Amino acid sequence: MTAYDVIIIGGGPGGYIAGERLGHAGRKVLIVEQESLGGTCLNVGCIPTKALLNSAKLYAHARESATFGVTAENVTYDWATMQGWKEKVVSTLVGGVAAMERRLGVEVVKAHATLLGPGRVQVDDQVHTSDHVIVATGSVPVMPPIPGASDNPAVVDSTGLLSIGSVPERLAVVGGGVIGIEFASLFAALGAKVDVVELLDEIVPFMDADLASRLRKGLSGVDVHLGCKVEAIEEGTVVYSTKAGEQHRLEADVVLMAVGRKPAVAGWGASESGLEHSGRGVVVDDRMRTNLPNVWAVGDVTGRSLLAHAAYRMGEIAAAQILDPVGASNRGEVMRWDTIPWAVYSLPEAAGVGLTEAQAKARGLDVITSTVPLQLSGRFVAEQGLKAPGTVKIVAERASRIVRGVHIVGPYAPETIWGATASLETELTIDDLRQVVFPHPTVSEGIREAVWAFKA
Ligand code: FAD
Repeated sequence: MTAYDVIIIGGGPGGYIAGERLGHAGRKVLIVEQESLGGTCLNVGCIPTKALLNSAKLYAHARESATFGVTAENVTYDWATMQGWKEKVVSTLVGGVAAMERRLGVEVVKAHATLLGPGRVQVDDQVHTSDHVIVATGSVPVMPPIPGASDNPAVVDSTGLLSIGSVPERLAVVGGGVIGIEFASLFAALGAKVDVVELLDEIVPFMDADLASRLRKGLSGVDVHLGCKVEAIEEGTVVYSTKAGEQHRLEADVVLMAVGRKPAVAGWGASESGLEHSGRGVVVDDRMRTNLPNVWAVGDVTGRSLLAHAAYRMGEIAAAQILDPVGASNRGEVMRWDTIPWAVYSLPEAAGVGLTEAQAKARGLDVITSTVPLQLSGRFVAEQGLKAPGTVKIVAERASRIVRGVHIVGPYAPETIWGATASLETELTIDDLRQVVFPHPTVSEGIREAVWAFKA
């Protein structure tokens, strides 16, 4: 039995960043990871998808390059080489996290951990003690009870599709959330016939509805079937019904099940230790405290936001609370759930932060909005032309003119959005943003155009 200051269960973004912050402050930390350091994000999530999407984007751009005066003949892709590149990126980044933990003196073991109670964690067959425990067990894919979906070799989840042996000729995607749309875009760019079947009336449900509709219309080579319910999967055939009750059959070689992920609350002692939780996750407050003393939960397992950067911030907040329990220096270190940005790395890309117009109205806020085309940006026109999809929408409070939401469809949106996040964090007004100097020419100037498009 070894005593630690902190034991962290799970080495994904939530767990490893908490380990880094605590190790940096000189605490004796153990991270227990049963699979691979880096968790879902580095191994089978954010990073491998972006590596493959980058290859697909290069291929798509090369095929369109004649418009820009560059002739590329016989442009092809090689899926096996793309896979090799993806693996290299993943192993480099996982190695980087391992090196960082080592450098900061954080111990990492590959084992299954079970929470026995506050300060007690079983690691394989040994019990370790610690002053604090951080639970960061992540999430798992949801497999809905659709007849014919389980034990069907044609049906895969995102992890299965990431390492599939070849590009399918026909891909059906069940679920039009971020993961479904990114894979749809990836395989459509590589020439697959792609259909997305979505139960709701629009894709990416947390997006501002106007912009989600523009994103959907801008997705090249993807047929989206909205408001449709998958009734069954018969080998590679997806049987779905429309709201009007019509039944359709969609033939596919591979079916991606992408209806969402759920917090991983089973198999590590959540119930036995008395930790308050449900299928929706471990219950935490804004400081990542659970109902058990000195037991913290961060990342996807809380069910509050299933994004890697949200997991990072939750891990940092738990670490800050552990390092300064009195709170003298970390009064501000609470999770601000309204200002977590999100991004979709499809073609076109999209990103946003803060309230959508509908969310603002649902909260009873009196808001004004401004929507402009990205064709107002010189760089956008120079690099994309006049017909490419690109839009910025800003939501602001009418009376105070404080900006409450920024939503973008277009290139570089995932890179641009942090600036909008900083504006929301500091409650900048439309008039404050009008005084900010943007570099020219940049696509981010679309935000500047949008703030000037509000009426005086
Ligand atoms: P995880 O990364 O899931 O890590 C949890 C870790 O805990 C796992 O490694 C698991 O093995 C380990 N574990 C669980 N139980 C135990 C136990 N009892 N003992 C020991 N170890 C245990 N998010 C983004 O922000 N941007 C993206 O572009 C993005 N793309 C994605 C694409 C895909 C295909 C998927 C599936 C997800 C994507 N995500 C993305 C989501 C992102 O991966 C997660 O939000 C993030 O990984 C959550 O981090 P976490 O630390 O909470 O959990």
